[in-house]
Amino acid sequence: SGNLMQGKRGVIMGVANNRSIGWGIAKAVAGQGAELAFTYQGEALKRRVEPLAAEVGSELVIEADVTDEAALDKAFAAIEEKWGKIDFLVHAIAYSDKNELEGRFIDTTPGNFQNSMNISVFSFVAVAKRARKIMNEGGSLVTLTYYGSEKVVPNYNVMGVAKAALEASVRYLAADLGPEGIRVNGISAGAIKTLAASGIGDFRKMLSYGEANSPLRRNVSIDEVGNAGLYLLSDLSSGTTGEIHHVDSGYNVMGMRVLDSEE
Ligand code: NAD
Repeated sequence: SGNLMQGKRGVIMGVANNRSIGWGIAKAVAGQGAELAFTYQGEALKRRVEPLAAEVGSELVIEADVTDEAALDKAFAAIEEKWGKIDFLVHAIAYSDKNELEGRFIDTTPGNFQNSMNISVFSFVAVAKRARKIMNEGGSLVTLTYYGSEKVVPNYNVMGVAKAALEASVRYLAADLGPEGIRVNGISAGAIKTLAASGIGDFRKMLSYGEANSPLRRNVSIDEVGNAGLYLLSDLSSGTTGEIHHVDSGYNVMGMRVLDSEE
């Protein structure tokens, strides 16, 4: 542990359990002295998030479904009342109906398209709008994205389209908030077995394919994504905004499958 985040306070949105990518980032920044607040979706997750928050010394655990504008207002009001200002925020939230995370993209329904875009893209804008009002200069926002935004990944479908919009949103938000001294970046994480990932059809194949075909020949951990989060949330990355940083064992640079000697 060190003190890169000493004196900094931030909000982690989207921890569901100890496999969550948001939890990987929370551990990394707390290990460097950050003080944390957590938001979670729905009462059912409360009993999972509270003990995790306690592990990193946080007592600020707040319910906020991102589709509920009033709930977001309430959550940020509670954070402002407790702390006044914040220094960083992590958005680790996405959702699509699992029935559309398999089969063909062309079969996406209007309802799920809208819901997926609202929860997985617009929520970052909604949260950024509220966070900037209470953010110190030098503040940093980070969201999570995936390679399915750049290239077609079977079964990822509407989430790939949502992640493309999320990555574009990172750039537009960076342009809006840069003059206020606030940075906005995304981490494009390789496939990791989490609750959200288990909704994707043939997810095990994404893991084994990534392992076989990435330069490092392995998948990444939430702790590795956490360390990249630490970099982007700390002053170490003070010159970087609007960036999508890959933590994917290098998978995204490959233009061709790795063929073993048998093929
Ligand atoms: P996870 O299931 O642990 O986290 C997803 C979170 O989204 C959950 O905490 C869930 O409660 C929250 N959420 C969903 N709908 C919500 C709503 N309406 N209001 C508030 N919260 C809501 O899974 P994860 O894999 O850690 O996902 C975190 C982020 O990482 C997501 O954006 C995901 O797309 C992204 N990501 C995941 C992978 C992977 O392979 N796991 C790879 C790249 C990017």
